[in-house]
Amino acid sequence: MNLLNAGKKLHVGAPNIGSREVLFSRINDILDRRWLSNNGVYLLEFERKISNILGVRNVVAMCNATVALEIAARALELHGEVIIPSYTFIATAHSLYWQGITPVFADIDPKTHNINVEEVERLITPKTTGIVGVHIWGRGCDTEGLGILAKKYNLKEMYDASHGFACSKNGQMLGSSGKCEVFSFHATKFINSFEGGAVVTNDDELAEKMRLMRNFGFKGFDNVVHCGVNGKMSEVCAAMGLTNLEQIEEIITINRRNYLAYQKGLSGIKGISLIEYDPKEQNNFQYIIIEVDSEKYGLDRNKLVERLHEQNIIARKYFWPGCHLMEPYRSLHINSPYNLPETDRVAARVVVLPTGQTVDEETVDHICQIIKNRP
Ligand SMILES: *Cc1c(COP(=O)(O)O)cnc(C)c1O
Repeated sequence: MNLLNAGKKLHVGAPNIGSREVLFSRINDILDRRWLSNNGVYLLEFERKISNILGVRNVVAMCNATVALEIAARALELHGEVIIPSYTFIATAHSLYWQGITPVFADIDPKTHNINVEEVERLITPKTTGIVGVHIWGRGCDTEGLGILAKKYNLKEMYDASHGFACSKNGQMLGSSGKCEVFSFHATKFINSFEGGAVVTNDDELAEKMRLMRNFGFKGFDNVVHCGVNGKMSEVCAAMGLTNLEQIEEIITINRRNYLAYQKGLSGIKGISLIEYDPKEQNNFQYIIIEVDSEKYGLDRNKLVERLHEQNIIARKYFWPGCHLMEPYRSLHINSPYNLPETDRVAARVVVLPTGQTVDEETVDHICQIIKNRP
């Protein structure tokens, strides 16, 4: 009997969870030590492990990726306008706007769903100070192209790598491009620390500045050398992150198995295409993304999602309708006249399907059958 027959709801982004015994023993140790936050042993170990996996010099773990993006943008002294894709989770935009920076939305390449470098260049004005690229679905965006633009126009280049932990581009782990990259360890992400995030960078000075900023600007006792915020990750979160990292291979194996099962189950369904992960790259396979061509499929994308919900499959329409059509950006008319046709089209086509530890192959087959049996 598969999970759906048991009457359970299947959610996109249900958390992957490592060994409870190991987690509980770490939490006991944290309580025994009475060291709950502020550069504890688990935080330092978590940062060290991430640094090894990504091959990047500095890892500054934070309470979540949104605050990490905010701190990174501040540390880089971004202001005025910063160009980002509209096809991303709203936090990419909010993290800038929250600090008085105007996010300017660039269109995407419909094949990769990633930011289109030519569109970025078109949007550069005298007010532009930076670019935030996003590696959507863990498929690395055009870091070379954005790097060239950043140099040519003297802009700061950073990345929202929230989807991209343990994913590679041209054989290199994501995390080393631009001035810095930001990862998320939110519950719904590939590896979670309950809530959490990190900025990673090969720039030691930038890392030091962000370490100060995440702890109110404190340098030792009684000495505040910077304006800062509380962006710290707690020891319990670091322990969860470490415990889940120990299962990284198992989680990838499960996600990859599910991806291949979806590939098989969805092949040949007219109007449904699964986005592919390059077999030459490493991927976490955390996102099962289909695009629905409503005419060929014979059913509207929204209707398909409704139908899946009726069957307890809580599929999602990421990132619909695009940041530019959400508040406050919609009313601000940042891109005016707005010209993001590919973002609009992709956002209207995508459905995200469940995967991860809570989904087995039989369940994938069942979901594929529901999609196949359209009216
Ligand atoms: C999840 C996500 C974030 C926010 O991460 P949090 O850790 O929840 O703050 C930012 N950007 C993207 C692209 C995301 O998917």
